[in-house]
This record gives sequence, C-alpha cells and structure tokens, in this order.
Amino acid sequence: MKHAEILLTGIVQGVGFRPFVKRTALKHSIKGYVENREFGVKIIASAQKNNIEEFLLDILNNAPAVSTILTHSIQYIESELPDFETFEIAPSKKKGEISALIPPDIATCDQCAREISDKKDRHFSYPFTNCTNCGPRFSIIQSIPYDRKNTTMKKFIMCDDCNREYTTVSDRRYHAQPNACQKCGPELRLIEIIDEKPVATERRERAFDKTVSLLQKGKIVAIKGIGGYHLVCNAVNAEVVKKLRTLKYRPQKPFALMARDIKTIEEYCEIHKCEKEMLQGQQKPIVLLNKRNNTLDHIAPGVKALGFMLPYTPLHYLLFKHFRLLVFTSGNISEEALENNDDSAYQNLANITKYYLSYNREIFNRIDDSIVTFADTQQILIRKARGFVPKPINIKKGAENPQIFAAGADMKGSFGLTKENIFLGSQYLGDLAFTSNMEFYRESLNYFKSIFEMKPEVVIADSHPNYFSTQFAQDFADEQGLPIHNIQHHKAHIYSVMAEHDLENVLGISFDGTGFGDDGNIWGGEFFIIKNIECERFAHLNYLPMVSGARAAKEPWRMALIYLFKYYPEAVNSIIPEDKFPQKDMIFLQLLNDTVKLQTSSMGRFFDAVASIIDVCHYNSYEGEAAMKLEAFADENFSEYYHFEFDKQRSLINVSKIIRSIVQDIKEDRSKEYISSKYHFTIARMVFDLCKKMKSEYGIDSVALSGGVFQNVVLINMIKRVFANSDFTLYWNENVPPNDAGIALGQVYSYLLKSR
Ligand code: ZN
Ligand code: ZN
Ligand code: FE
Repeated sequence: MKHAEILLTGIVQGVGFRPFVKRTALKHSIKGYVENREFGVKIIASAQKNNIEEFLLDILNNAPAVSTILTHSIQYIESELPDFETFEIAPSKKKGEISALIPPDIATCDQCAREISDKKDRHFSYPFTNCTNCGPRFSIIQSIPYDRKNTTMKKFIMCDDCNREYTTVSDRRYHAQPNACQKCGPELRLIEIIDEKPVATERRERAFDKTVSLLQKGKIVAIKGIGGYHLVCNAVNAEVVKKLRTLKYRPQKPFALMARDIKTIEEYCEIHKCEKEMLQGQQKPIVLLNKRNNTLDHIAPGVKALGFMLPYTPLHYLLFKHFRLLVFTSGNISEEALENNDDSAYQNLANITKYYLSYNREIFNRIDDSIVTFADTQQILIRKARGFVPKPINIKKGAENPQIFAAGADMKGSFGLTKENIFLGSQYLGDLAFTSNMEFYRESLNYFKSIFEMKPEVVIADSHPNYFSTQFAQDFADEQGLPIHNIQHHKAHIYSVMAEHDLENVLGISFDGTGFGDDGNIWGGEFFIIKNIECERFAHLNYLPMVSGARAAKEPWRMALIYLFKYYPEAVNSIIPEDKFPQKDMIFLQLLNDTVKLQTSSMGRFFDAVASIIDVCHYNSYEGEAAMKLEAFADENFSEYYHFEFDKQRSLINVSKIIRSIVQDIKEDRSKEYISSKYHFTIARMVFDLCKKMKSEYGIDSVALSGGVFQNVVLINMIKRVFANSDFTLYWNENVPPNDAGIALGQVYSYLLKSR
C-alpha cells in the first residue's frame, strides 16, 4: 500500500470535480479523500502504486468537459497515514475556496433533469433547478471569489430546504452557489408588449403554460436563457419560420434547432459517435450535423448541415415535454449583439415578437450558444462561447511572460488576455463593424480584466489600420502608456495553431476571406514558412483587382466576373449574362481601364467566384454563404482535380487553368456536384503540392492550417486523405476557432516566440 498526495490546479471547483474524483477513485479501488483548496484540488490516494497511477491518468484523461486541469503533481508520502476505509469528499477547509479561474456555464445534469420531472421531488417542474455539477456560472458571476454573494443570485435568500442542501457536505447541492427552488429562487414571467409598453401578464406556471400555447399557435416567443435571449418558434411550421426570416433579416442563413432528444435529431440528420457525445455533454453547443433528408430545408436552405442542440436548462426540459423540435436562434437583430438585458430586449426585438418568457434574475455576462462541427473525429470550434468560455489555454511559456492584451480581429471579434502561462479568450463578440458589438467588446474586456485581475503590459493588434479592434488597442496602449505590436492577420492565424501545439517551425497554410496584407493588399490565400522566428511568405494565390471593394465580398458574381475577365475573357458573356447582372458593364469598364489599385489573393473570394460561375450562389446574404453552398455539392471521396501553375520566380499560384477547365466542364454539361468536388480536391492537391515544394527547400514537415476556409469539412477531409501516407504532420486549431475569433491566441504566441 502507498499513500500519494495529488495536487491539481485550473478550473477544478464549481464544475462537479470532486464527485467525479470520487467515482474515479471507486473504479480504481482507491481509498482516501478529495478536498478543495485555495489553489485547486488536493487528493490523498491510498492503494497499490500502479492503481494510483492509473487513477491519476483516468482523472487527467476523463475530467469533466467544463473543467480544465492546468497543472498536476503527485508525491508519495513516506510518513504513516491512517488507513482509510473509504474514499470521501472532505469538507472544505477554507470558506470561499478562492480560485482565480471561474467555470463556464454547465448544462443541466441528468440528476437535476430527473428531479424536475419527478412529481414527488421538491424540485418538480422548477425551471431554475441546478446543483454542484450543473447550472449557470460565467453568465451570473459578477466578481471573485465565486460565491453566491458575488453572483446575480445574491438577491434571492435561500429557504431552509435550500440552505440545508447548500450546507450539507454529502448533498449534491453542497456549495452549489446558484441553488434555488420554487419557494426562494427566480421565477418565470411572461412579458407582453401592450401599447408599446412591456407588461408582465402572467407569472410562474401560467407564464410557462401560455408560452407553450403561443408556440403551439405558431407565434414567435423570445425566451430568456443562460447567456441571453433566444427567438423560438415551431420548426416544422414553414410559415412562422419564413416570418422569422423576414423579421430577422435573414433570408437564407440557417437557424439553430433544439430537439427533445437524440432520436428526434436522427430523423433529420446522421449522428456519429463524437457528435453524439458533444450533443449530450456538459457544454451542449450547437453541433452541425449532415442532413439525412431535405425535410428541414427551410431551416438551412442549400447547405449540407443542420445545427442542433439538446435542452441545457431545466426550462428547456420542461418545454420539450410539449415539443419535439423548435427553432432556437439567438435573440438579436441580424448580426447585432445578443440581447441579455430585459428592457433592451423588449425594445430591440419589438419588431420580431410581442412575447417574452423572462425571469427575474439578471444575466451578468451575455454569452451566445457555441457552435461545433466535426471533420471525422476532429473537433472544429466555429463559435466559441457558452460552455467553452472562460476556459484557460496553457501557453506553456515561462512565468516571466508579461501580461498581454491581444485585440483579435474584426470580422469575428474575440480578444485574449494572458497572465503567466495562461491565455484566456473572450466569448464570441460578433462582427465589430456593428456599434452594439463594439459595446459588447468593451464590456467584456472590462469584465475579463477585473475578474482575472489583469493589468496588461503589452498590447497586440492586427495590422489592419481601419479595424475597430486595432484602433481600440492603439487607444488602450496610448492611454496606459504601453508598447503596441501589430501582427499581420494571416500570420496570426498560423501562430494560433502553433500555440495550440507548441510548435516553432512550420509550413503555414492560411486561407480565409479578408485580411490586411503587409503590402497593403487584401490577402487570404497564403503559404508561409515559419522558421527560427522568421515568417516568410512563400507563395500566394495570384492577385486580382478587387473591383467594387467590399461589395465584391458580398456579391460573388462580381468575383466571378473578375476571375473570368482575367483568365477567360471570352467566356464572360455566356457565364455572366447582361440581363441577370445589369451592373456588369460598370465593372467591366473598370477592369478594362485597369483603374483598380487594390488587389486580392483571397482564397475565400476564389471559392465565391467558383460558386457563382457554376450558378450555385451569386449573392452572400450571410458570411460564407456561397462557400457553404458550394461545399454542399462536393463529395469528399472524389479524386479528380484541375491543373494549376506555380510561378516560383514570382512566388504565386496561377489558377488560369482551373478557371478555364471549369468553364469547359460547364460547356460539356458536367454537373455541379462534379465540378464542385473536382474544385475542392484541386485545392487539397494545391496544399499538398506546395507543401512538398516548401519541404524540399526548408526541410520542415509540420503543417499548420488555419483561417475561415478551414471550417469547410469536405476540404479538411480531402486534405487529410491527400496527406495520409506522407511524411508530413498536419496541425489544426482545436481549442480556438480557425476563423478570426481564434486570432488573438496567434497574436499572443507570435509575440512570445519573438520575445524569448
Ligand atoms: Zn445538476
Ligand atoms: Zn429554496
Ligand atoms: Fe481571417
């Protein structure tokens, strides 16, 4: 028999960690105890040495999804300890259990879900039931330490029953800060807008019942959730979905769905093992799943996936006793910030709905639903928010690191802060071109700075001079008298992957829609060599004149015209007919006169152009629409490809042959499926061919791929297939999104690499 002391730090309190340790201990026949300490969790384990080792490994590998273990240590104790007969959760030594890290919001656990449907349980049908293992966290925490008095629960005084649970060590609700019940906790109310004024018309069960009947009648209801409002309606009622599209100015963009259970989702989508685990886990994000049929095409027209989530609050569970499937889309206007404040919601959503199922607890931090997709078993975070924020990422460089504020980028706002070896990324903050999102950005930064007690010493921003985030960072640095560094957008994308895998030398493939290049052009189809701290642009997609600027990004037919003009002018008239695109002549004239100075090498725009050329999508009503619709036509097992040329002298990739062959294939009546598949595989081949060239020159075989284009699952799977039996190792983003919301981590890492 051995005794070992195991110390764990990170997010290990307030996330159901101790019960997990106890379960794991029983599994490995470990005796002893676990207790919360100021630094994290301490475990005393008594067993055979190999049992203890397996026990620790099990803990490290299978810790609750919302927890984060930053460091662990194990030490065998020589001195005599009492012989333990059981494994117990010890009462806390210190009140408050100070931990500088706060947990993310956790989806309702199975036991709480069971209790709210149990007529004999005192939590029966109470919509704010929670326990030590589940419930709101980040969204309600106002300051540290994480104690009830520092949350928006402070105004609710616990009743005797709740208090007993809260103070009983053996209870599931021991120290559950948001603990509440029907008698003492928050309550539902239905707000209706009557004569332009919000009026609370019903409370408690009656508010709930009325909501159910409104939804059954085909109305849209705004429902207050964990991190903000949702707009909810019947998903199979095509009429109300259409109405919601019109009112939300979202003609085509997919809506998220919430379903009662896995079985319901399976009627519409294929679900693989890791997708199922993610759907049912503690984070409960929206998971993008391949459609099985076209029954719900009105929810997500023209794309291959539907976004599903399962109920994650008691209120959701109660609702889904009456429904199987509901639209659960973010309660905001188009791309504006999510509504969390009641009064502002009543005002800003007034054009969409008159009905609000609300409750009298404030959401302190607004946070949207996260979105996850999978390429085979590889997890891709599309939107990092509820359940994933504020989980720290270990940046593994010394404690000497200065504290850094990395401002991120604009298209998908998200900043990052560092302290010692910890990186904390903000929740998804939306497109920073909108004033409400800028406000959200400021609000969130102030929160993060105060709650994690951070005082940035260095500021890093994108090199785009006109980004809100860049200008904000500049002002911030000026005010505080701090040094500021600007890092090129696409390089930062690659550094974000390097940070996640602790890499120093890589071949970097950075594909996205827009980013300010070192030469003032718009980059986005970039191949980098990062070696010995230096970053060199090895190759890029050949430049094209960005006629009509930002509008070209909104209207793929403009990019199609630009591509055709450059590579196949004879085909312009047949592919882009005058009667369909009357503004065509204007662009044509500008191209002829060669007046456009701004050039682009964007891969995102190349996808747009091809989507339009083969008549899949000519206008982007939401970001990435054309690319997603093009992807929907592609078969990932396809293996034919178009030829392209690499001009070594000028380090550029000439795609003339790709464009000409695509037009040829159209003339030969090849299907959209054929052309799209072939085009996708061409890009996969392009990545592989260029990597071989770069490797032969620089001897590097680690490949880091990032940028918004790498949300394309077909492309990712094709790339993996092409590289399968090669000497290369591919690295992807795992814990930050490959899109612009992941850039702050790259900004930090680039600075740290250079300053070591
Ligand atoms: Zn629970
Ligand atoms: Zn109570
Ligand atoms: Fe980007």
